Amino acid sequence: MEKEIILTGDRPTGPLHLGHLVGSLRTRVAMQNTGKYKPYIMIADLQALTDNADNPEKIRQNILEVTLDYLAVGLDPSVTTILVQSHIPALYQLPMYYSNLVTVSRLERNPTIKNEIKQRGFERNLPVGFMTYPISQAADITAFKAKYVPVGDDQLPMIEQTREIVSAFNRIYKCDILVEPEAVLPDSNSCNRLVGTDGGTKMSKSLGNCIYLKDDEKTVKQKVMSMFTDPEHINVSDPGHTENNPVFIYLDAFSSNEDFEEFLPEYHDLAEMKEHYEKGGLGDMKCKKFLNNVMQKYLAPIRKRREEYEKDKGYLLEILKKGTEQAVEVTGETLSQVRSAIGIDYFTDKDFIDRFVK
Ligand code: ATP
Ligand code: MG
Repeated sequence: MEKEIILTGDRPTGPLHLGHLVGSLRTRVAMQNTGKYKPYIMIADLQALTDNADNPEKIRQNILEVTLDYLAVGLDPSVTTILVQSHIPALYQLPMYYSNLVTVSRLERNPTIKNEIKQRGFERNLPVGFMTYPISQAADITAFKAKYVPVGDDQLPMIEQTREIVSAFNRIYKCDILVEPEAVLPDSNSCNRLVGTDGGTKMSKSLGNCIYLKDDEKTVKQKVMSMFTDPEHINVSDPGHTENNPVFIYLDAFSSNEDFEEFLPEYHDLAEMKEHYEKGGLGDMKCKKFLNNVMQKYLAPIRKRREEYEKDKGYLLEILKKGTEQAVEVTGETLSQVRSAIGIDYFTDKDFIDRFVK
């Protein structure tokens, strides 16, 4: 039986951060390692251009950075095909067909887009390409016939949009070529949308509230130590809130019972630690020191692998080139099927030639 397909990706607008790790990278690696799927991972440089058209240098600088992050977290290029969006013609031809199946008002209702437009302060200067990137994303997913898309929950409206396009396409052109994808979300609320170190609703490159996978030990420590906590927890003896408290959200996402044994044996597990914090008597400093130990332990092997791969940039470029070539082939096949379903394959379609040429 053919393996089910996974497609997901990242914008090369900066190195990857903890939000990417818990929201999507961990799921990708776990799914990859089951051996049950064929994964494709896309470096979305075209999507990155939609709000960085005047700064392509930023994108150029981050293509290999993102590749390094992929390898560092355990994506294996012999199993997972890594590709560059801008070099795959089908990915910008398909949106031309799909855009006729989507209304402007439907795009305007997309909550993620609404939010991102507000965040970037576009107002009347909103680039058309940015407004329509959900259509381009639908092309990315469907070109590979992906069934599974491992993402954080900010991407749910994009998957929904894709499903609508698939269903409209298959209905109108009376075919079953396109596959309806499903999001694969992480299994905890803390990871669905990891908060920023500033307590902001999402850790995001554009917001500058990130801990990056490549941050060195000192930087991670400094970011953890200056993290937001509960604003009402002023004295150690005050009762504190653990909900919406970034330190505890990160502990939810990263700590294990072994970490308690190793670094904070006075508590059995996170539940016990939270209980103490909520009752009062546990200081923020102590919590942050523990979180720092947990993070350093978690990130050290990733950082080490990253440093190893960094020594051979030529190898990285080779991975991207090979992966992109493979992707051109796979997506080209889908594009041909799409064109023939619509009926615009005039030069090769026997029916067209029989009816209009002969
Ligand atoms: P930008 O600010 O440039 O949009 P970003 O930090 O939002 O960057 P993307 O490249 O847009 O990152 O996101 C790539 C993937 O990582 C998506 O699947 C997204 O859901 C996931 N992701 C990004 N940030 C988070 C986060 N804070 N928590 C969980 N998942 C996240
Ligand atoms: Mg984003």
